[in-house]
Amino acid sequence: MSDKKIIAIVGSTGAQGGGLARAILADSGSEFAVRAVTRDPSKEAAQALQAAGAEVVQADLDDEASLERVFAGAYGAFCVTNFWEHFSGEKELEQARNQAVAAKAASIQHAIWSTLEDTRAFIPLDDDRMPTLQERFKVPHFDAKNEAHSAFEDAGVPTTFLHTAFYWENFIYFGVGPQRSPDGKLALTFPMGNAKLPGIAAEDIGKVAYAIFKAGDEYIGKSLFISGENLSGAELASAFSKALGEEVAYNDVDPDAYRSFGFAGADEMGNMFQFKRDFESDYAGARDTAKVRALNPELQDFESWLKANKDRVPIG
Ligand code: NAP
Repeated sequence: MSDKKIIAIVGSTGAQGGGLARAILADSGSEFAVRAVTRDPSKEAAQALQAAGAEVVQADLDDEASLERVFAGAYGAFCVTNFWEHFSGEKELEQARNQAVAAKAASIQHAIWSTLEDTRAFIPLDDDRMPTLQERFKVPHFDAKNEAHSAFEDAGVPTTFLHTAFYWENFIYFGVGPQRSPDGKLALTFPMGNAKLPGIAAEDIGKVAYAIFKAGDEYIGKSLFISGENLSGAELASAFSKALGEEVAYNDVDPDAYRSFGFAGADEMGNMFQFKRDFESDYAGARDTAKVRALNPELQDFESWLKANKDRVPIG
């Protein structure tokens, strides 16, 4: 039996947890072993992790006892929820609480909670610059994650609060890449004005998480704010123009217009971008890429991410 310290990774078949699992598995001298948590160990992503040396275990975020079982005997836990599977702030909070309670029960020595800012600290619910959503949130997938900090703190779990950023993979999977307008020209549409949008290659989040675990106690009880590069809409469009060899314009729209676009989550995304635009100095200002690169020297900037991924971005 290996004497490596086990990290139980929730979301191991997804972007963040998968990045962490791959970072550990790629490091043959690692002091850690991967316990990959999934609802379905037979799925391809889980099988790939197993083939690369991970232990794959089954648990469900809606079932606290199942989390306790898979956290048992582990040194660390990477904890994450997937808001976009259910679009509910309350459910996300419940799934976070289940992870915190299970981490405590299993005496986890270091948890990383994948989180984001509480936008209500900047825009109170009675501030009508943006609509209140789900009765008590401005940006549910931000606010609920942040509200969950107290679950880890109250349970007494030694936790690092890892504040992530917009994945550039959203240009591939989330339909926010360049779209062709009726005049035939390509445009990138965001309600961000001239503000910088911190972004990151999703795989880099896991690499940062690995560095946090490797640092031992250093980041326990601390909040970290990460991104790969903070670029304005115009700068993102210009990078696309260069990579695609065709001009991509930046189409700055009003957040109200964005909220009315009609796709699932448009109101949530409109509020999110408006928060990032109106509180740029707090949100982008907190994300210092030099500090992130010190933790993860392989951190990609947008140009290098785009060079490697431009063919995967569907051009609408
Ligand atoms: P992802 O790639 O969408 O994959 C979802 C992962 O969550 C899968 O590994 C899935 O595991 C696991 N999962 C979902 N529900 C589960 C449940 N009930 N029980 C056990 N596991 C469950 O995930 P991700 O992108 O790494 O993380 C999603 C989170 O990232 C969201 O909450 C989102 O708000 C946040 N985020 C996204 C962005 C962005 O720009 N897209 C930026 C910052 C933060 P199985 O299906 O294998 O069970």
